[in-house]
Amino acid sequence: AGVRDLLLGRIRDVADYPVPGVMFKDITPLLADPEAFKVLTETLADICVQRGATKVVGLEARGFILAAPVAVSAGLGFVPVRKAGKLPGATLAQSYELEYGTAEMEVHAEDLASEDRVLIIDDVLATGGTAEASLQLVRRAGAHVTGIAVLMELGFLGGRDRLKPALRDAPLDAL
Ligand code: 5GP
Repeated sequence: AGVRDLLLGRIRDVADYPVPGVMFKDITPLLADPEAFKVLTETLADICVQRGATKVVGLEARGFILAAPVAVSAGLGFVPVRKAGKLPGATLAQSYELEYGTAEMEVHAEDLASEDRVLIIDDVLATGGTAEASLQLVRRAGAHVTGIAVLMELGFLGGRDRLKPALRDAPLDAL
């Protein structure tokens, strides 16, 4: 409970961002606090160890900030899942539904191997679309998803329910 309070206490609510009516969860105060950032990194690295992860996948863009130090701390490789058009090599692409329209994420398939066990990391789970597309990308690359871990889950947006079928037996951890 102490760790959770420390971390969630460093998240700032920003009203009407990016559009009116949305309360944005801003993680930059947590990142600016060296103790909180370290505790978060170690907590996520522990989850990697528990799950027997061999790779850490971070989701653009704030997921990169969290997942990269976790990968180094846990002694694992880091693989980015990026918005469409940002990765230079041969990619797999996965589109997903937004409230209005669609979006697309990509991964370099050659950075994941069939023996890899992947922990997917992002900062916030909202509707779950980004996480669901990432799960599908990792599996299409031939690797096993050993879990998804996020700093914070916005429960009222129903992301966990949306993800349930795609998760199969992979746990979804929100701190
Ligand atoms: P979803 O696909 O689950 O609807 O949205 C999750 C993605 O959008 C994550 O990559 C996350 O970084 C971003 N996101 C959505 N809402 C918020 C928010 O309130 N705060 C932050 N930090 N990220 C958000």
